[in-house]
This record gives sequence, structure tokens and C-alpha cells, in this order.
Amino acid sequence: MKAHDGMYIGGQWRPAAGPDTIAVVNPADEQVIAHVPAGTADDVDAAVRAAREAFPAWAATPPAERAARIAALRDVLVARKDEIAETVTAELGAPLALSRTVHAGVPVLVAGSYAELAASYSFEERIGNSTVLLEPVGVVGAITPWNYPLHQVVAKVAPALAAGCTVVLKPAEDTPLTAQLFAEAIHEAGLPAGVFNLVTGLGPVAGQALAAHEGVDLVSFTGSTAVGRQIGATAGAAVKRVALELGGKSANVILPSADLAKAVSVGIANVMSNSGQTCSAWTRMLVHKNQYDEALALAAAAVAKYVPGERVGPLVNAKQQQRVRGYIEKGLAEGARLVAGGPEAPYETGYYVSPTVFADVTWDMTIAQEEIFGPVLSILKYEDEEDALRIANGTVYGLAGAVWAADAAEAVAFARRMDTGQVDINGGRFNPLAPFGGYKQSGVGRELGPHGLSEYLQTKSLQF
Ligand code: NAD
Repeated sequence: MKAHDGMYIGGQWRPAAGPDTIAVVNPADEQVIAHVPAGTADDVDAAVRAAREAFPAWAATPPAERAARIAALRDVLVARKDEIAETVTAELGAPLALSRTVHAGVPVLVAGSYAELAASYSFEERIGNSTVLLEPVGVVGAITPWNYPLHQVVAKVAPALAAGCTVVLKPAEDTPLTAQLFAEAIHEAGLPAGVFNLVTGLGPVAGQALAAHEGVDLVSFTGSTAVGRQIGATAGAAVKRVALELGGKSANVILPSADLAKAVSVGIANVMSNSGQTCSAWTRMLVHKNQYDEALALAAAAVAKYVPGERVGPLVNAKQQQRVRGYIEKGLAEGARLVAGGPEAPYETGYYVSPTVFADVTWDMTIAQEEIFGPVLSILKYEDEEDALRIANGTVYGLAGAVWAADAAEAVAFARRMDTGQVDINGGRFNPLAPFGGYKQSGVGRELGPHGLSEYLQTKSLQF
């Protein structure tokens, strides 16, 4: 795979400040496919300076012109979609079909939505005798995870640029090649120098330096709750804005009136997609006690179609594979019963985990409380609706969820009582404009659509 040996700073690829590199590994065959520079605090400092320098002119650029540049960026992402899909498959391990439709496809929708929003958004409003100006916050430090390597980047950079902010991105160490491709796309789209900057590197070094840099006005982080807590503390101490998109343990609530077969098969697909490495995955399926055995049979039949190496890719690295297998062992040790899969790796080579379904899971078990981030589903039994609600809300997380019922109104009534940021009703379709983000320990702030744009704006009121 092609890799740059420098950082993208101030509109050009520059040599890294230090000699260290990060090896990029293909998780399907464990081969090293490239090396990228491991950035230091000096690289971060150079990138933040470039972003600061570029900020006044970009903030003053008319929204219609910013919109045109974001539209050009979207067009480059379309033109290079095959290369993007192949790169995501090489460094994340996702099956090529998923890389094409989701990993390369969704960022085009999101970039397109912000090209439109930048042009149509009201950056000024009247309230009584005041005019309120919505102004860009400044320099954004964006720190992203590996699970959706391009989407996570575009979901931060596109709204930041639409708002008039400039950006320094520190992508995940496992998937830096997709981030480098994105920097090339920015360049090709003609964004002014310094408006977007890329520093590859390790989280505790480059990521920490970016979060702590005094030239950064807003830190936007997506990743684990443990790191998010640390970044929130750093930002809080510096009185800096912070947005945190963290973990999840979402509930898929199947009410007795629902189409059980459909709800179970969509639920399995949701968890197995991207090898379960989706923060919003519905990893707890809640089924009424009278339908429990039927649901288990349906789940066993549905999961058999998810063959590792075909429809299900490997996990991103050996550490994640070990972690997920450890959770499966823990589930067994705490008394859950396997319906499919298990802790044994299906192949000797590649970081694969068998698609696994657990029955007899109670709400307090580790596998029902902690985020596993692998192809593992827990099916829980509920007595009645109140019990289902107690289980659904009974974790520290609140990122997403699903409700199934015979009619939408019944499902909506249940969804209103869920402590979570997003709920799909009877398998509702993905909406790139809908706000995405967590209640409780799943995070602070929202991404996507106009709500995502407003995270990058601050208000000034003028009284007349
Ligand atoms: P992670 O928290 O380890 O890493 C995320 C990013 O933070 C990476 O770029 C990493 O280099 C950086 N980082 C690590 N330590 C840092 C530090 N001390 N200071 C600054 N930056 C640091 O998470 P991960 O393993 O890459 O991703 C998996 C986690 O992300 C899961 O818990 C998942 O739920 C969560 N996630 C959440 C969302 C969401 O939108 N809510 C989306 C995707 C993933």
C-alpha cells in the first residue's frame, strides 16, 4: 500500500519531526502493509500553528464558498471511492462489499450533507432587539478511532469546515492510510493551505499533545470512554470546548406484537456488520419470555450465514481479538449459554473471532454491561414491558437502540422512555442528517446534520 512518510501540514506533505514510525498491519493475513510516521508534540505544534494561521481567512470566507469547497471534497471522495474501499479493507479488514457501500459510501453522503448545510444554514438570527451571530469556534483538534476510519473523520471535519473552523486531525494508529487518502482528497479539492492538517501518531503521544495544546479551541474525540474521560478532564482544566462520542451497549427491544423473524434477523445483521466493531450496535437483544425459545432458534439460523472470512471480516488487531475472546470466556464463566460461536478462533491466521450468540444472559452479567466491540450478541429474556425498560436502561451507556412492535406508535411510546440518544423504530433507515451521540456515559455533544454543525459554532449577541 502507498503511504506518505510525512505529515500533511499547511497544505503540503512535510517530513515528520522525529524518526519513529508505526507499522500498519492487514488484520486478515497479519502482514505489514505500510509504515507511517509516529508524530510527536513538535509535529502537533506545527500543525496547530498552521491551523491558527489559516483560521481568520477561512472563518471570513463566505459560507457559499465554503460550501463549494466541501462539495468539491465530496466529488473527490466519489471519484476515489474504489481506492478508499480497498484501503479500508487492507488496514481494517472489512469485507470489500462493506467497504464499498458503508466505509466509502457513507462519507460521501455526510460530506454532501454539509456542502448543502454550509450554503443554507442561518449563521445569524434575530431574537427580540438582538442579532445573534453564530461564529466558528476556532481551531479544532479531532481525534478519531479505527472502526469507521473515513466516516469518523468526515463526521468531524466536514461540519468543522462548514462552520468556518480549521482542523488538526490525529487518526487512529491502526488506520492511518485512509486518513492520508483523506488529506490527499482535501488537497485535490482545493481547500486553502492550513485549513486541514494531519498528524499521524500514537494516542498517548500525538493525541495527548493535541488535546492539551493551548492553540486548540475545541477537542472533538471519538473513542473509548476511558480515553474520553481523560480528554474531557484535560479540556475542562483548560476551559476548552469538548465533544465526546464514546462507547455503547445498545438494546434491541422486541415487543411481543413485533414481527419476530424480521426483528431477529435485522438484529443479527446489525451486530455482525463490521465484525461487531460499531459503537451503536444493538448488542443486547431483549425478547419476551413467551417468545424466547423461538427467538433463539431464529438467531441460530440467522447467524449461520455470517461466515468469518466471507461476510464477517477479522477484528482490527490481535489485542482486540484477544479482548473479545476474553469476553466470550467470561460470558461462559458467568453462566451464559452459547447458541452459536465460542471463544476459539476460527482460523490460525488473521484476527478472526467466531460470530457468537449467547442465551440465558441476565442484565447484570459482564457481557450485558460492558462494551465488547466484536461479533457477540447477548439475548436476554424479559417478563413484561416494565422489565424490558429496566433492562434496556440498566447500563452506564446510552448511545443507540431499537424497538420493534406491530405499529410505530407502540414502538415510539417505548422509545420515549429509553435513556439513549438514537432509536431505530422497526428497522428505520440510516439518516445522515439525524443527530448522533450519547446519553449518560456514551458522550457529550452530537454529530451529523445541523445539530453536528452547531457544535462548531459559538454565539455572539448584538443588542439594538
Ligand atoms: P481509543 O479510545 O483507544 O482511541 C481512539 C483515539 O484516541 C485514537 O486515535 C487513539 O490514538 C486516541 N488516543 C488514545 N489514547 C489517547 C490519549 N491518552 N490522549 C489522546 N488521544 C488518545 O478507542 P479505540 O480502541 O480506537 O476505539 C474503540 C472505542 O471507540 C470503543 O469503545 C467504541 O465504542 C468507541 N467508539 C465510539 C463511537 C461513537 O461515535 N460514540 C464511534 C466509534 C467508536
